[in-house]
Amino acid sequence: MLDIAIIGAGPAGLTAALYAARGGASVRLFEELFPGGQIVKTHRVENYPGMSDGPDGYELAARFEKHTAQFGVTAEYTAVKQLILSDSQKEIILSSGETIETKTVILAMGASPRPLGIPGEKELLNHGISYCATCDGAFFRGRTASVIGGGDTAISDALYLSKLCKKVYVIHRRDELRASAILADAAKNTENIEFVFNSIPEEFLGEKNLSGIRLRNTKTGELSVLETDGAFIAVGIIPRTDLVQGQIKLAPNGSIETDEHMETSVKGVFAAGDIRNTPLRQVVMACADGAVAASYAIEAGRQ
Ligand code: NAP
Repeated sequence: MLDIAIIGAGPAGLTAALYAARGGASVRLFEELFPGGQIVKTHRVENYPGMSDGPDGYELAARFEKHTAQFGVTAEYTAVKQLILSDSQKEIILSSGETIETKTVILAMGASPRPLGIPGEKELLNHGISYCATCDGAFFRGRTASVIGGGDTAISDALYLSKLCKKVYVIHRRDELRASAILADAAKNTENIEFVFNSIPEEFLGEKNLSGIRLRNTKTGELSVLETDGAFIAVGIIPRTDLVQGQIKLAPNGSIETDEHMETSVKGVFAAGDIRNTPLRQVVMACADGAVAASYAIEAGRQ
């Protein structure tokens, strides 16, 4: 029987695979799309120790992947259709129909961008609306773009877009940013970034393509329309727990509860990275979670 099945090849899953394989366990790593998870949406990772060159997310993901492959694990690009998880039995069912029995599982599926859930959002997705500035920013070169949100993602997106776009609006529901000071200060000192504070988008406007955003001022209730060619939504993330709903204890915010060994409410099932209830969502944390999860999964597999 397989020792460790890892679901998700972001920083948490890739690090878990590296540690597990290096620790002598048999490992399979499953990924639905591409390696790197959310970091591929980051244009510069400048706070991962030792990476002072500030690689972009693709480059960092490729380095992680290469390093994991040196220990004999390469991701299998396939969707996991179902997970059967209990203290005594763990099965991974792939979309191909293959069923894998495993002693332990590490859940590292990460998180997806949170939608705003307002009119026009679904209709104009990929027609001016995007959840990924590094993927789609180039479409707005020389034009006007808006970023919605006040956290690290929103502000790093705004900084990235400011190098491509004529003008970047940051629309935030409060008058104080949530983002870390270094990002916030850089954005405040960037000439073509303008903050639209105390404002909430109520509707995305446009027929075939986005033309503007209807905003409501949270202090006065006043409605206005901000003309923009692009809108990048960065209002947080939702942990990707669909496969484990009803099987594993979740925190009130929807992420997976773990103990300090990254073990979930099910014996032998571990969680690592942004899917986990963690106080700090950073690449370094995801990697650390992956290392801890793999170390204790190896131990659990021996029992
Ligand atoms: P976040 O920190 O949760 O920020 C979400 C932002 O969206 C907040 O400013 C929030 O406003 C706003 N918001 C939430 N719901 C909204 C709504 N319905 N309408 C309007 N605005 C709404 O999410 P994030 O920026 O995606 O970051 C996620 C995690 O990844 C964080 O832990 C972050 O530190 C980390 N991250 C780090 C880096 C980095 O270090 N370089 C880069 C990206 C992400 P309020 O402020 O009013 O709540």
